[in-house]
Amino acid sequence: MAFPRATEIAHLLVKQRLQPGDRAVDATVGNGHDTLFLASCVGATGRVDGFDIQEAAIANAREQIGDSPPVSFHLCGHEEMETVVTPGVKVVMFNLGYFPSGDKTVITRPDTTLPALAASLNLLAIGGLLTIVVYPGHPGGNDEALQVGKWVTALDPDLFRAVHYGPAGSSAPSPSPYLIAIERRE
Ligand code: SAH
Repeated sequence: MAFPRATEIAHLLVKQRLQPGDRAVDATVGNGHDTLFLASCVGATGRVDGFDIQEAAIANAREQIGDSPPVSFHLCGHEEMETVVTPGVKVVMFNLGYFPSGDKTVITRPDTTLPALAASLNLLAIGGLLTIVVYPGHPGGNDEALQVGKWVTALDPDLFRAVHYGPAGSSAPSPSPYLIAIERRE
């Protein structure tokens, strides 16, 4: 039996927090996995805003999931999320890196990822949760991972609590994805 993946732990933490009627954001739609999951947690009375800059990703997700309540898709960078989403969001999910079945050259980048993470914290309700699955293994991924790590370290511990789930020591044959989850305390 293998350890659960970072994405599975993210779902576990999110499921514990979300209730029907809540609002959530999928900051990196990709294949729409997280959008669908969030929609199932918040139900028809909730709302999920999904962002991606790849037309193919948004088109595919629209086809799979439909662009109707509770889901709204936005072909727009997650760094713009504050122009679309109002504060009081219960969960924001990021799945960094590239879309495996799409254009692998379109990767999330620190210069937009970090502003988007900051925007997410502005939008979070008290008790809300931000999950970030970090992929250090692809070109550019390690730089992004380091910058995200630095950003998390600088958060005010009175306002936010952060946890980390990922491989320990040198047990992984190559850099594996890991999860950072941040809770807004007040
Ligand atoms: N690495 C994950 C999938 C990540 S998908 C896995 O292996 O399963 C990451 C998604 O983020 C891609 O679909 C990409 O188009 C999207 N993306 C990249 N930059 C973005 C931005 N600035 N705003 C919103 N989405 C972005």
